[in-house]
Parts: sequence; structure tokens; C-alpha cells
Amino acid sequence: MQDYENMIRENIAVIRSRMDAAAIAAGRNPGEIRLCAATKMNDADRVRAAIRGGVDLCGENRVQELQQKQPLGAYEGAPIHFIGHLQTNKVKNVVGQVDVIQSVDRIAVLEAINTCALKKGIRQQVLLEVNIGGEESKSGFTPEETLQIASKMGGYPGVLVQGLMAIPPVSTQKGENLRYFAEMRQLFIDISQKKYDNVSMVCLSMGMSDDFEDAIACGSTMIRVGTAIFGARDYAKK
Ligand SMILES: *Cc1c(COP(=O)(O)O)cnc(C)c1O
Repeated sequence: MQDYENMIRENIAVIRSRMDAAAIAAGRNPGEIRLCAATKMNDADRVRAAIRGGVDLCGENRVQELQQKQPLGAYEGAPIHFIGHLQTNKVKNVVGQVDVIQSVDRIAVLEAINTCALKKGIRQQVLLEVNIGGEESKSGFTPEETLQIASKMGGYPGVLVQGLMAIPPVSTQKGENLRYFAEMRQLFIDISQKKYDNVSMVCLSMGMSDDFEDAIACGSTMIRVGTAIFGARDYAKK
């Protein structure tokens, strides 16, 4: 076994026990929270090691990486989610290729997914991405826009909204994002109570390496973890 395989396996075991502890502390069932490996910049071998190490699914950010790793059998049958910013001209390469597109962050991409899915004769599962910190630098809908779009999903028969995804601001202090996670939870509940067509609120995707325990305390059902599984990404390396 390669060294990195052991490292990845051990990291995942630590994350799992932290997830379980956070769930129990919040009075939740640990079994209702899934661990998504955020696999950007990690090659097929490392992705495979993460799946063997016990993650529930993988999240890819870039179409190109998805297309490189998929033919190599990197995902070993585990679910694949798309979690990165998606250009409309690349939508066709993702629809039907992944289980869920989590990063529906604007109307143009929602419409492109709908059109493409109908053409392929499928229904694409998606999450709506919420810019919960209201950051200029990030895409995603405001909470108000998210409610409005959810109410109109009946007009998009090619997609099925399965929940919400959020990337809150980078935090510098522990607990800093708790209020954003709490706002997400409330929005998630508000939308699910409306019972809109084509909307089924089953997945609340929030929490990353630095803040997943807080996200779990606030009702996250899926955390997306990169660094704590694979180590720091080397952005200098191409
Ligand atoms: C990279 C990434 C993550 C994981 O971030 P870490 O801090 O490395 O755990 C989660 N979600 C998205 C959308 C990402 O791009």
C-alpha cells in the first residue's frame, strides 16, 4: 500500500469520528450526514484511495478533471457530484454524467441544465447554491432569490431540486460561520415547508475542512471536505 493511501485512510477515520461526535452533540443521528470528498487537484489514484477509505461520494470542481478521472474508473461506482462553478457551454459535459450538480448558481446555468437534460431524456438532480455571505466575489443566489426560484421549479421539468448548497465566507475565527449555517438551515426548512413542484429538500450541503462541525450542529446533511482528507492543495503545481 502506498503511503498516501494510509494517510488518506487515517484522515477519513478521524473526520468520521469528528462527524459522529458533532452529530451526537447536536442530538442528531450520525447516519444522516454524508461525507463528500472534494477531489479537485487530486488524481485518480488518490480519489480511489478516498473511496476505499470510506467517503460516501466525490465532488469535482472542474469539467476537465471529471473527464480525465471518469474513464480511469477513479470513482469506483461511488456517486459523483459536481461542485464547481459551471460555464453554460460546459453544461452538456456534466448533465447525465454526475448524480447531482450542486453548484446551480445562476438562472442561465439552471436553464442550460434543464434544456440539456430534456434533450437527453433525463432528469438532472441539482442543488441550488446560495451566496449566504452576500459576497461580491462569489456566485450563488441570495436567500430571497433562492425561495423565488424554488417556487418556479415546476417550469423546469428537466431538473429536480434536491436541496441547497452553500460556501460561506472564509472564516478566521472558530464559530464565525455559525450564523450563516443557521440561516441556511432556516431557508432549507422554509422551502421544504412550501412543497413546491420539482423540489424535494433532502440535502443541505455545507461545511468544509475548517468548519464542518459547526455545519453539522446547524443541520448539514453533507459536508464537502478536501484538505482534511488529502492534505493542502499545491496551487503552484500544474
Ligand atoms: C475545495 C472545495 C471544498 C473543500 O474545501 P476544503 O477547505 O479543502 O475542505 C468544498 N466545497 C467546494 C465547492 C470546494 O471547491
